[in-house]
Amino acid sequence: MIAEIIAVGSELLTPFRQDTNSLYLTEQLNRLGVQVGFKTIVGDDRRHIVQAAKVALARTDILIFIGGLGPTEDDLTRESVAETLGLQLRRDPEILQSIERRFAEHGWKMSANNVKQADVLAGATPLPNANGTAPGQWISGRSDGKEKIIVLLPGPPHELKALFESAVLERLHAKVPKQFIATRVLKITGMGESACDARVAPIYKRFTNVNTTILAGPGDIQLHLHTQAASIEAAQKAVDTLADEIENELGDFVYSDNGDPLEQIVSYYLQMRNATLSVAESCTGGLVAERLTSISGSSRYFVGGAVVYSNDLKIRFADVPEDLLEVYGAVSEPVAKALAEGIRKRCGTTLGIGVTGVAGPTGGSAEKPVGLVFHALAGESGTEVIKRNFTGDRSRIRWYASQQALDMVRRKLM
Ligand code: AMP
Ligand code: MG
Repeated sequence: MIAEIIAVGSELLTPFRQDTNSLYLTEQLNRLGVQVGFKTIVGDDRRHIVQAAKVALARTDILIFIGGLGPTEDDLTRESVAETLGLQLRRDPEILQSIERRFAEHGWKMSANNVKQADVLAGATPLPNANGTAPGQWISGRSDGKEKIIVLLPGPPHELKALFESAVLERLHAKVPKQFIATRVLKITGMGESACDARVAPIYKRFTNVNTTILAGPGDIQLHLHTQAASIEAAQKAVDTLADEIENELGDFVYSDNGDPLEQIVSYYLQMRNATLSVAESCTGGLVAERLTSISGSSRYFVGGAVVYSNDLKIRFADVPEDLLEVYGAVSEPVAKALAEGIRKRCGTTLGIGVTGVAGPTGGSAEKPVGLVFHALAGESGTEVIKRNFTGDRSRIRWYASQQALDMVRRKLM
């Protein structure tokens, strides 16, 4: 079965509001084994809503409308769906009463336009909304010999969620053939998207029953594996088998096979090895420390460090020799190495990280362009430095650098 979501609201077509409800609904539908085939966002325009609804009805089994159930002039979902299906709207006295009661209970005055929220499509089941005035609606019927389900849900996210869980989930369960979904998320770092795809595509293409999606971000690639089957065991086995084959191919480029972020993986390794870590960060301005400390319990292995943006503080807080800064400049391999070694010694940790680079967009030169970053990891057996030339804007370059630094820790302890 294929579902389609139509989010109604002119605000969702501006840069200021996002349609987040459909993300929630997609997750819920996927859990039922239903794929979302299409999502549409349409403004508060009756003609446009009817057009979108007609297209959707011709191609989908389950059609869910979000929003446009309010009391104001621009809330047109009920009227538009009635027009699309050729159905009358009838005013439901019970709903009207409950709306009136809700207003009375809160000591509010009900305005005249609220009555239209009691309008129900002929043949539809109203779905009580415990958190708001507009009830949802459920209507199922046959069209072109196929069963179609149409659901109307209110726009405010907390109303939509509560209503979906209390009234829609069970109804869908009864209609949808039993299917089970299994997913796996593999995370990869240290490799570009096309290089990664070139190596894994021949594998995942053989698994025609598993849907594989590649999501690339700065310093990170995610492979989302998704399948459905008649039993949970069969679904899980399909994604696990594919995940194993991909992990075999990519080896230690895969840092997580359950969706964990890199800072969580680093946390596992540091604890496993009984190691501690400190950081001296220049161009990342504390991002590495921020990511490390986002993990609960990080005080067990992360002691702290310093944001040493100026040369003066590189010398004072991380014991970088002044002549290194003069001879090589702050963004250089020797200074990265000195930062890592200096902070490690100062903090008395097993490992020390040093990061220095040009995050841009200003401050680059021919010799040291924007995106040039040196990452150092100091340990008992010596210091490793990795030089990278990242591309992108300031926040992207800083994120890349933090990813590279954390990955050095992972690889060192692996
Ligand atoms: P409505 O039911 O159209 O009156 O929507 C009421 C409020 O719900 C809007 O002002 C939005 O803040 C919110 N809303 C509507 N649709 C969505 C959506 N698809 N995702 C997130 N919020 C929404
Ligand atoms: Mg609206």
